[in-house]
Amino acid sequence: MLCVLCADVCPVLRPADPDQPATLKFREPLQDDGYGLYSYELFARSTRSEIVEATQDGGVVSVLLQHQLETGEIQGAILGDVEEDNPQIGFARLARTAEEIMACAGSRYTFSPNTLALTEAMEQGVGPVAVVGVPCQVNGVRQQQHSTIRMAINRWYRDNVTLVIGLFCSEAFTHESVTALAERFDVEPSAIENINIKGKVIVRITDRETETLSLKQFRKYARPACLYCTDYAADLADIGVGGIGRDDWTYVVVRTEAGHKALQACIDAGRLETAKVSDFPKSKELLTRLSQQKANRPLPALMPTLQEREAAGDLDPKAFGKKLGEAKA
Ligand SMILES: Cc1cc2nc3c(=O)[nH]c(=O)nc-3n(C[C@H](O)[C@H](O)[C@H](O)COP(=O)(O)OP(=O)(O)OC[C@H]3O[C@@H](n4cnc5c(N)ncnc54)[C@H](O)[C@@H]3O)c2cc1C
Repeated sequence: MLCVLCADVCPVLRPADPDQPATLKFREPLQDDGYGLYSYELFARSTRSEIVEATQDGGVVSVLLQHQLETGEIQGAILGDVEEDNPQIGFARLARTAEEIMACAGSRYTFSPNTLALTEAMEQGVGPVAVVGVPCQVNGVRQQQHSTIRMAINRWYRDNVTLVIGLFCSEAFTHESVTALAERFDVEPSAIENINIKGKVIVRITDRETETLSLKQFRKYARPACLYCTDYAADLADIGVGGIGRDDWTYVVVRTEAGHKALQACIDAGRLETAKVSDFPKSKELLTRLSQQKANRPLPALMPTLQEREAAGDLDPKAFGKKLGEAKA
């Protein structure tokens, strides 16, 4: 007998249910420009410069969470925090205060197992909660909310996860990537304060000028699992956010009623300022192109294995399959 349990719980293999827009209460009128259904989009950033400074892009994620916490919409947020001796390696954190939310701000380009903190929230009875994650984590949360396996746990997810913020994501990188960066710039990993990827890898190092590295060179450190992902803009999140197009602003794609309510509350409270995406048309073009690049990848089952890709030196997600094709020709 065929058991399809693994496919049913896999956020990558399991196709999205056709009734997802209704189930997740996507906000009408809906648009589809190739990066998931959405209602509207804008650039936003914190109205406080010290928050913009302390966060990855415009600080929208941290501001949304702080506002939700302070207005009692949530009791906690499922985030990623970091160790002091290696600030680029994340671990899961259930943040319960504005200070804890800010301590988690910024992006780690390694995989951060944020969603593990959901178990802590469930066990401690902390809810409702907001979840922040890259697209695979967003899809995992939706799976938990809407799968028919383990009904009691799924009900907890449905009732208690009230806001899902998805980070745009080309790929995450291995822990080895951080060691390699530290070696290249001849510093301890603890001195790498922040990494930002804007067409190139921008590395902020303690007491040093900012260093940059070609993204092409860095891509060999992409996590193998990320090569199978087809979701760039967190299509099933309430809000998708990224650092595309404009420095120090967050590109915000509002998809659902919950996302709209959370965002507008922050704007109304004067915590976020906004700008039109249409004034920066190149940013939208880039979002569309990067989303399409991922969406057009073959399904995982049709892809070459990691061993085949390694043998062909074909580990760059952007040129995926090209070298392998050449090797086979
Ligand atoms: C691995 C990764 C890849 C990304 N790739 C792209 C990209 O290709 N294009 C693009 O436009 N944007 C990308 N982003 C998103 C971008 O870096 C910012 O997170 C986003 O613009 C929000 O900025 P902010 O200032 O509003 O967020 P902040 O207010 O700084 O909050 C960021 C939140 O992200 C959480 N976080 C940090 N690291 C991780 C992680 N590894 N996994 C899950 N959650 C994490 C933190 O807990 C924090 O709550 C990526 C982010 C990550 C983590």
